[in-house]
Amino acid sequence: MTAQQTGSTPPLRINSSFDSGNIRVEAIDGTTATLSIHKDHESDFFQWFHFRAAAPAGTRLTLRITGLAQSAYPDGWPGYAACVSEDRERWGRAASRYDPGVDGGTLTIDYTLVGDAAWFAYFAPYSQERHHDLVAQAAACEGVSVRQLGESLDGRPIDCLELGSGDKPVWLIARQHPGETMAEWWMEGALDMLTDPTNAHALRAACRFYIVPNMNPDGAFRGHLRTNARGINLNREWHEPQADRAPEVLCVRNRMDQTGVAFAMDVHGDEAIPAVFLAGFEGIPSIKDTQLALFRRYRDTLAIRTPDFQTRLGYPEARPGKANLSMATAQIAERYGAVAMTLEMPFKDNDDLPDTAQGWSPERSMQLARDCLATLAEMVGDI
Ligand code: ZN
Repeated sequence: MTAQQTGSTPPLRINSSFDSGNIRVEAIDGTTATLSIHKDHESDFFQWFHFRAAAPAGTRLTLRITGLAQSAYPDGWPGYAACVSEDRERWGRAASRYDPGVDGGTLTIDYTLVGDAAWFAYFAPYSQERHHDLVAQAAACEGVSVRQLGESLDGRPIDCLELGSGDKPVWLIARQHPGETMAEWWMEGALDMLTDPTNAHALRAACRFYIVPNMNPDGAFRGHLRTNARGINLNREWHEPQADRAPEVLCVRNRMDQTGVAFAMDVHGDEAIPAVFLAGFEGIPSIKDTQLALFRRYRDTLAIRTPDFQTRLGYPEARPGKANLSMATAQIAERYGAVAMTLEMPFKDNDDLPDTAQGWSPERSMQLARDCLATLAEMVGDI
């Protein structure tokens, strides 16, 4: 019997009990839901949300996510539009507005359902199942091996894909901050290119790649923004990683100690800045002119290659000797003399090249990975 036959309208329902789900329902009044976001376990960080809203097709939903002035990055909300999908394949953006003075900071999402349910997220999710598919598909390619470097606190594998016949050790790592799902979309683009037998010959011949697509599978599954199962920010543990706090970092750094590192990229997302940018290692104690020159050449070459990358917006450089060696990029540059860098993609959009339908997206993250690797190919002989 349908709702029309009974004369009753099914109510709006909100759920988040699934992989990377995160929302708390405060109240539902007709087609308006008032919501808030759970903090990362044993931490005060919160910003990632992911939930399903179900109501009859054609319903105009008003979804109010409140309390956001206390979120990890309040500057992430002005100019931000929530990601939405009804088929969970293509993610678009829903009209959203931020009112800092309402209910402790409120993002209001307006969306009219096409079908009977829609999924909303801070960015297009990257599930644990998709991660396993990514590893399995890469492992099936010739010349690729999977090495499980260790286990997370919840017992999930920390996977490293190795490929290439060259002697330059290149490390690519992503999702230390698990809510930054664009980082694993980037990895999918990178692996797609590196495992294509008709592509990337020069890179595979020059380098040995070590690729960790998800440094923080527990935080990813738990719907965290920034931390692992114990509420630890992995990108503040690289100076002395401990097995009981950050085994995810410890096992990766131990493997790096075995392989050495010539070039490293740590892939992230930035909540506030509507642009793609790189951060380097300017403040490390042992910095060498050649090392820094190669980083800057890489950055400037990437900016010429793609309009989705720029050098105008970004983080301030650390002053000489003031680098934070608890962070991956600084530690790797200092410890191995590597050309190391942190890549940041936006949660919002690239405002130099805006896409009102999708904003920054999985598709653009994957394409950026190809441009990053092509830039590496251009200069790998000098690294
Ligand atoms: Zn990050």
